[in-house]
Amino acid sequence: MPLETYVGAIDQGTTGTRFMVFDHGGTVVTEAYETHEQIYPEPGWVEHDPLEIWENTQSVVQSALETAGLDADQLAAIGVTNQRETTLLWDRDTGKPVHNAIVWQDRRTTDRVEQLEQEGKTEAIRAKTGLEADAYFSATKAEWLLENADPIKTRRARPADLRDRAADGEILFGTVDSWLVYNLTGNHVTDVTNASRTMLFDIHEMDWDRGLLAEFGVPEACLPEVRPSSDEEYYGTTDPESFLDAEIPVAGALGDQQAALFGQTCFDAGDAKNTYGTGSFFLMNTGNKAVDSDHGLLTTVGFQRSGEPVQYALEGAIFVTGAAIEWLEDMTLIEDAAESETLARSVDSTDGVYVVPAFTGLGAPHWDQRARGTIVGMTRGTRRGHVVRATLESVAYQTRDVAEAMIADSGIEMNRLKVDGGAVKNNFLCQLQADIIGAEIVRPEVDETTALGSAYAAGLAVGYWDDLEELRNNWRVDREFDSEMDEDEADAKYDRWAEAVERSRDWATDSDS
Ligand code: ADP
Repeated sequence: MPLETYVGAIDQGTTGTRFMVFDHGGTVVTEAYETHEQIYPEPGWVEHDPLEIWENTQSVVQSALETAGLDADQLAAIGVTNQRETTLLWDRDTGKPVHNAIVWQDRRTTDRVEQLEQEGKTEAIRAKTGLEADAYFSATKAEWLLENADPIKTRRARPADLRDRAADGEILFGTVDSWLVYNLTGNHVTDVTNASRTMLFDIHEMDWDRGLLAEFGVPEACLPEVRPSSDEEYYGTTDPESFLDAEIPVAGALGDQQAALFGQTCFDAGDAKNTYGTGSFFLMNTGNKAVDSDHGLLTTVGFQRSGEPVQYALEGAIFVTGAAIEWLEDMTLIEDAAESETLARSVDSTDGVYVVPAFTGLGAPHWDQRARGTIVGMTRGTRRGHVVRATLESVAYQTRDVAEAMIADSGIEMNRLKVDGGAVKNNFLCQLQADIIGAEIVRPEVDETTALGSAYAAGLAVGYWDDLEELRNNWRVDREFDSEMDEDEADAKYDRWAEAVERSRDWATDSDS
């Protein structure tokens, strides 16, 4: 009897790299994880060593297979999901990076973005890319690398600089998916979702934008070929000579948040998911229509399957959600994150207290860099439990802020929200979210939706799974939370939240540290 087959997912995140193997039912069979070094060369700069990431990738793949006693050729396909926007350049012939990767969090190019603002170019950038011009995205990082990153230059006999070599196709640009797929298969490709985060890609034309390439001085010859997220032609196959001793199709890739959308089987317009980690990422599938936002949301590519139209998404980022729970721990109001639930339940209400965790300003839909953390409504009777409960409530209110913006922008009603991420273990938070948002909150059994999404993309491409229906059937509910609060009561509380947000706004001055 032939051996059972599976699909592997490489989940390359900001802090570490995970390999997970899934069976037909979408259940995790084995996994392994390794962290990598965070390099901070200067304040506000964040880099990763791409070779370390590639070595860790090989090692987690091998160790996960070994743990479960699986042969590499039992993998029907491999999918990739990755930290988005992180950018690197490497030498096509040697395969060596010319510099560390510049991580999405890195702020070294903020001046360049301010220059774009002053030159009045940001509207045009948003119209083409769906993105709010920012140093997060790859474009200014690639520009910086092409200008500053040639340690080899001084040693080269040939006078050509890095940009010339990139124009000759000798130096290649890529995000982390592209780097891993290149190492796995030898092919220089990226998927549509990762391309959509570069700020070099026109999401309407679905092609690199010549005007933006010229603006940032990125030669077309160094760019990867853009392919569907789930690609029946495969990005390539692994080379048995160099790795794994087997020829495995690498056939799917998605940026991490889009992978979670796919893993949550949000395949249709109106399907939405929110991931509650340190911050939160709320994505709503808007179907084949790229919806422009009037409320500070990003328009981005959700996913694309071979031969099918692109599915777009609206995306809202909330900076501080789980991090507010970490703050409660730092303040010794709770011992660990789980205690937030017990303490919140120990009181009937927040007793009128509202916490706005605008520690680093407010993101979508408020966009106020000068907002700061605020607690309002305290009395002499305010207790620990009230503040803790109000902090959990702030996670739910911030999510409603983004949900309302999505509904206003898209005109699509949202009856259900699928949730994942570290904080959804908290049942109190999930129930509260259902109450505040007035929609059903659904938590799946497999919470590693990011890895699952990329496995699904790769597995669909090779026919391991037949169709989306099979994946929908795989998706199993762990628990559903129905809205129990009276709508008027929820609206009244939410209105008070809006007032608390007003108090937090425009607080920091230039003299504040
Ligand atoms: P990330 O991927 O951003 O590192 P995770 O998805 O691992 O984050 O989630 C970690 C976050 O979830 C932390 O900020 C933590 O405070 C929060 N968290 C974990 N458990 C709970 C809980 N029971 N209640 C509320 N928040 C929690």
